[in-house]
Amino acid sequence: MNRVAVVGGGMAGLAAAHELDRRAAGLALPLEVVLFEAEPRLGGKVRTVRAGPYRLEAGPDAVVRYKPWFLELVRELGLSGDVVGTQPARPAALIVKGGRGHPLPEGLNVVIPSKLGPLVRTPLLSPLGKLRAALDLFLPRGPEGDEPFGAFVQRRLGREVWENLAAPLTGGIYGGDPYELSTLAAFPMLKDLEKRHRSLILGSLHAMRKRRGSREGGSLFASLRGGLGRVVEALTRTAERVGWRPNAPVERLEHDEGRWRLYGPWGSEGFDALVLAAPAHAAGELLGPLDPQLAALLREIPYGDTATVTLAFAEEPFPKVSGHGVLVAAGEGSRARGFTWLSRKWAGRAPEGKLLVRAYFSGEGASANEEELAKTAIADLERIVGPVPEPEGVWVYRWAAGMPQYTVGHLDRVRRIEEGVRRWTGLELAGAAYRGVGLPEVVRDGRAAAARIVDLLAARPLD
Ligand SMILES: Cc1cc2nc3c(=O)[nH]c(=O)nc-3n(C[C@H](O)[C@H](O)[C@H](O)COP(=O)(O)OP(=O)(O)OC[C@H]3O[C@@H](n4cnc5c(N)ncnc54)[C@H](O)[C@@H]3O)c2cc1C
Repeated sequence: MNRVAVVGGGMAGLAAAHELDRRAAGLALPLEVVLFEAEPRLGGKVRTVRAGPYRLEAGPDAVVRYKPWFLELVRELGLSGDVVGTQPARPAALIVKGGRGHPLPEGLNVVIPSKLGPLVRTPLLSPLGKLRAALDLFLPRGPEGDEPFGAFVQRRLGREVWENLAAPLTGGIYGGDPYELSTLAAFPMLKDLEKRHRSLILGSLHAMRKRRGSREGGSLFASLRGGLGRVVEALTRTAERVGWRPNAPVERLEHDEGRWRLYGPWGSEGFDALVLAAPAHAAGELLGPLDPQLAALLREIPYGDTATVTLAFAEEPFPKVSGHGVLVAAGEGSRARGFTWLSRKWAGRAPEGKLLVRAYFSGEGASANEEELAKTAIADLERIVGPVPEPEGVWVYRWAAGMPQYTVGHLDRVRRIEEGVRRWTGLELAGAAYRGVGLPEVVRDGRAAAARIVDLLAARPLD
């Protein structure tokens, strides 16, 4: 019987265990899978919390539909009927600039305006800022290599588009300092647009014609009735079938004659292959004694703090808000990066007459303690919507070093990590640190790692 260990029961590890189980069954390959999770629960950052009549998300709250891998898994788990889109809202999101919320210009291609009309009309840019953005239509192509995303957007479209549009949007997705993001790792399609079309606006116009779904239509994002935790619940059933160990951190690895031995406070066990689906720094610690070079590369991937604060209010007398939430532009004095009106975005998350508001913090703003984060969230919220009543519920979730940061050179770092992994038979790495931070990419990554391991084991003669 082949034995495979999966270390880490976040979405990457769960997807890997699911795929190992599915493929082995398809090939009638005798395979025992053991999933080791340091915490008492599975799901990692994905955590839907039931609190009285409320349903809130401690971590991610949506997946984008145009990256199909998460929703494909949902379908395999028999949950397609429970997939929900956001509630209709037009405009769905506002950007706070100069103390007021302004709709995102219509027709954004990721973060790039693809229509001249809305760009001309938006109050988010000054007349000079608009002229500078339009210069993109005439500027020559830039260099092909990687560059900080802030530098890339400013080079093409100017400082105002960066500060008032692109930075708040990307900060809300990636956390950390959006300026330092690797353009090639985070937005390869924008770099590609410049290469193919020269102008980002012209290229986006072309790309948006082909793209389905839009921010305003509410069909871009999806979740499940009852929250993303439903997927964790379903995958926990697979994990229970294959065997998962709660409160079972893996603390040390040994590799001898092609077999892996895992050690922890729970004892030690031997395996034929291993998927490390813990964060890159944790994988680096485990691999340090075996492969210092690979471990050093893994530790080079920086992680930033993030936190969410969810507040429950009575809708009356809460100030009037519209859409699904707001993002905050730089220089507005807010430590929260944005607010989501959770119960307006998704049906069924709060009872009639109540409003669930979620603040998102990342980077320095996220490292405060829980009490301070809650106070800051309320103060920042009041700066945007005016005085708010006493919240009826407050839930703070801190994710210290919770978000990998794809800084310039990320793709090259990952290529060298992949080379390092190939030196070890039966080792795979998966998770948000490598080939995409969003849940769809994380699921794809876990499943691809599992598929490579099954291929390896299936090709091996049985002892
Ligand atoms: C606040 C927040 C909001 C987000 N919003 C979105 C969103 O809306 N949409 C979206 O697509 N993505 C979003 N993301 C990103 C997404 O949630 C993550 O990238 C993804 O969940 C990471 O999955 P993972 O399995 O790679 O890692 P994790 O979820 O971090 O799982 C790793 C697991 O490994 C375990 N572990 C660590 N060390 C060991 C060890 N030594 N032994 C055993 N177990 C170990 C940990 O306990 C953990 O359970 C968000 C992230 C955060 C933090």
